[in-house]
Amino acid sequence: MRPAATALLLALSGAAALAADFSWPTSMDASLTARPEDFAQPTVSGRISSALFGMTREEGRRFHEGIDIRPVYRDRLGEPTDSVLAAADGQVMHLNVRANGPYGVYVVLWHADDRLPHYTLYAHMARISPALKVGSQVPRGMTLGTLGRTADRADPIPQGRAHLHFEIGLLLSGTFTRWHDAQKENRGVKNLHGAWNGQNLIGLDPLPILRAGKADLAEEVRRMPAALACTLRTAKAPDFALRHPALVEGDAAQAAGWRIEFTWHGLPKRWIALPQGSAELPKGSWSLVATDRSQKDLLVRRKMLNPAGSAPGELLIRQMGILAESAR
Ligand SMILES: [Zn+2]
Repeated sequence: MRPAATALLLALSGAAALAADFSWPTSMDASLTARPEDFAQPTVSGRISSALFGMTREEGRRFHEGIDIRPVYRDRLGEPTDSVLAAADGQVMHLNVRANGPYGVYVVLWHADDRLPHYTLYAHMARISPALKVGSQVPRGMTLGTLGRTADRADPIPQGRAHLHFEIGLLLSGTFTRWHDAQKENRGVKNLHGAWNGQNLIGLDPLPILRAGKADLAEEVRRMPAALACTLRTAKAPDFALRHPALVEGDAAQAAGWRIEFTWHGLPKRWIALPQGSAELPKGSWSLVATDRSQKDLLVRRKMLNPAGSAPGELLIRQMGILAESAR
């Protein structure tokens, strides 16, 4: 493994601690944060739900991985002046200062001090506070920069729809760039964001967590229903299993493979180590072994299953590819 990847994995492994404290990620008055009608910035559809987490876009066909929070304060030119605030104590992992992708200018904080190490992400910012440096520790509530409307240059956000896109979630792989660069379709495409590329980040619904102000994320993830299961054959554990022992059952050191249960939106929520000789081990690298038929429609729309609902869809294939690649 390259030194950079090793350093990242070390930085990502967290110490066990109690439930983490969270607070609202913008400077809007707390009285506005209770109702989506007050805090949400919907898409052009105007539907409040489009600002929330889930299959909330394009008639339920498109997933939204976080929540969109509107600005409250504007300057004379109409540009937002709200501050973007750290939602929890954390460490700066990524500062994307140029609007060169769908997240625009964005900050990623890492929160290792929890039973389930996780990230928070702050996208479409106008600018990042010059005091922030990669690696620096930030306390909850600290200003990260100014809310804005930066995005992909091809798909700009109009002034009237400026917002903070906010996520809380888990990192799929510490060696994401290696996977990215090995994909045929990425030939000539540079991954500008390292592990902090959206394809490698799996969001949870941030709203209940922000509302509670506190969360035991390991418990939250365990409570999520599984929607499908795959088995993976691998002598080495995917680094997701090593970084999230709270989601693992069995002896990772002795595993010849894994049964991995996913939520409908693609979070590998439960990992069961399969010993050498287990009848559950797949013949090839991996295989889809169970689907909750009651969630089939959702799984198809999320592309975890193919359009017929009979085989892995493109998202599941990518997730399993990223996880399998990290087990080298
Ligand atoms: Zn958003």
